[in-house]
Amino acid sequence: NGLVIAIDGPSGSGKSSTARGVARRLGLAYLDTGAMYRAITWLALHEGIDPVDTDAIAALAADAELEIDDDSTATVFRINGHDVTAAIREPRISENVSRIATNLRVRDILVADQQRRITEARASGGIVVEGRDITTVVAPESEVRVLLVADPEARIARREAELAGAADTAAVTDQVVRRDRDDSTVAAFTEAAEGVTVVDSTHMGLDEVIDRICTMADP
Ligand code: C5P
Repeated sequence: NGLVIAIDGPSGSGKSSTARGVARRLGLAYLDTGAMYRAITWLALHEGIDPVDTDAIAALAADAELEIDDDSTATVFRINGHDVTAAIREPRISENVSRIATNLRVRDILVADQQRRITEARASGGIVVEGRDITTVVAPESEVRVLLVADPEARIARREAELAGAADTAAVTDQVVRRDRDDSTVAAFTEAAEGVTVVDSTHMGLDEVIDRICTMADP
């Protein structure tokens, strides 16, 4: 018994809105693993540690106290007592997070020590877990495994809408393309592993994508 819904996808694929929407509709817990990499990135910048100093970053991640408080509407992230819920969405975090996420020791700490433990602890009541390596590494045995993709143009347009005029198209395009490239050095984030269903959301509305995934969970 229990239900784990694993959703992977690149930046701007609609992954977070989709994952939260599915969790809300089915009354499941929700874990945003990208936010965990973002919180470590925030802490590194806060402590003035260079993201490329892999040893110092690994030590920082090993000692960090990450608290995740989830209710059905929002998740509060705290790291070493600092509420970083809003700060981890800032552009300076998005610009540096791939450097932290490509640190294999950081991945080990977050995946093995934290993400798998949280997923297992919440599986009996059901949980939606989103990220880049959930279907392949964190929870490959999940009942539902989805790779959410969208054409780069659609992803750039969504990011731009999210930023609500705070950045122009050229800047957003640059960010999305750069993060795709930086993220691609860790794993084939955009290729579906065996048994993973690819959902292309380029021409789908959010509700449609949520419907599709809920149907996979409860056909
Ligand atoms: O999903 P989000 O854009 O918040 O993820 C931020 C970054 O965290 C990604 O660009 C990627 O570098 C990293 N990440 C990862 N593995 C995950 C989730 C996120 O490497 N499971």
